[in-house]
Amino acid sequence: MLRERLPHRCSYFALRVVAGVRYTSRAGGVQKTSMKIHEYQAKEILRKYGVPVPGGEMVQTLEEADRAAKDLLDKGNAVVVVKAQIHAGGRGKGGGVKVVKSLADASTASKAILGMQLVTHQTGSLGQKVQRLLIEEGSAIDRELYLGIVLDRAAARLVFMASQAGGMEIEEVAHATPEKIYKEYIDPAIGLQPYQARKLAFKLGLKSTQIGQATAFMLGLYKAFVETDSTLMEINPFITTKDDKLLALDCKINFDDNAMFRHKDLKELRDLAEEDPLEVEASKFALNYIKLDGNIACMVNGAGLAMATMDIIEYAGGKAANFLDVGGGANQEQIENAFGILLSDPNVKAIFINIFGGILRVDVLATAVVAAAKKLNVQLPIILRLEGTNVEEGRKILAESGLKFEVGTTMKEAADLAVAAAKGGK
Ligand code: GDP
Ligand code: MN
Repeated sequence: MLRERLPHRCSYFALRVVAGVRYTSRAGGVQKTSMKIHEYQAKEILRKYGVPVPGGEMVQTLEEADRAAKDLLDKGNAVVVVKAQIHAGGRGKGGGVKVVKSLADASTASKAILGMQLVTHQTGSLGQKVQRLLIEEGSAIDRELYLGIVLDRAAARLVFMASQAGGMEIEEVAHATPEKIYKEYIDPAIGLQPYQARKLAFKLGLKSTQIGQATAFMLGLYKAFVETDSTLMEINPFITTKDDKLLALDCKINFDDNAMFRHKDLKELRDLAEEDPLEVEASKFALNYIKLDGNIACMVNGAGLAMATMDIIEYAGGKAANFLDVGGGANQEQIENAFGILLSDPNVKAIFINIFGGILRVDVLATAVVAAAKKLNVQLPIILRLEGTNVEEGRKILAESGLKFEVGTTMKEAADLAVAAAKGGK
């Protein structure tokens, strides 16, 4: 089943907007650079860094859920929280978080949530199936605050953000009342300094008895961020309790994909059930593919050209169905794999192949495209824009193939052809 992926991957995008980070490309926000994990996994990491989180257990069946809830109630917890574990925020509003006070109510909540198709502002309208629950100790919340760390590329620094407006959608806060988000930029040479954490703690209006704890909390978060090669860390809500404690009630961490080779333990936290099936398939072939919600499939060599292609499709009035970088060394098999993935998306109405022949020669590409299109019996219109090494031979191979390809001489012309073809104009 096709899921609407773009909103799902927009939290990184959104959070960078929160931090006031500028973009250079409309496509830039969807570049696949982050690995996501579940809340319960993120909390496990915080615990290792001495950052206080509520006790709890991840479960995958109703029997385990009841047993875990009973354990917590037996230990003297008056309140238990049943939380859906999916790779998206906004679960509370969508009915994925229930605060209960008895085993019977915990059981009812688990039954309602486990297996549900949870729709939040980050999942798209089809939602995400809940396959894991976190059964957690309830907390006596006094205040709900916000903490976040993200890279500000323009400043070339990490920025530590804090706000008193926690618990709600921080994107809304950033949009309507940006002055409610306090920021400290971190010097990479010396890291987050205790005085900076204290400054944020005071801005959060914490009591004098909480400042020391909050400072240690923030320094712990920063250490976890740096040592795990995070790209984003968000504690929303960061709570104070009635008995003066501080806790991370929710936690979201993304990691830098490109650094995962040096974190074998973190790599294992990946949950393929949360990822788009086509993207998982593409990653097996080392294709850099991201599913989007338009109808013009793109096959491009090079990530920069792929982003430029998406931009020019939008400029021509269309919408890209995906981001796909086939890489520099693409051979016929790789082109076949790529076609296979593109064609599995039922939204696709036209295929736009944009290749600059450098390492990948245009004639080699053209031969592969012809062979793959014949083998897979591709019926959709294929539009190409080719440039670079052996471009003339490449064009000749396409012209003599007996297949109907349309070739644009410039990127804009090819984009116009692709948009027209997707609209059924040609
Ligand atoms: P999100 O909606 O996906 O961001 O999920 P959260 O983990 O942030 O939970 C949403 C909301 O549920 C929080 O903002 C709290 O108001 C509430 N909540 C979560 N855990 C507890 C708890 O232990 N006690 C109480 N009283 N409320 C909780
Ligand atoms: Mn939250």
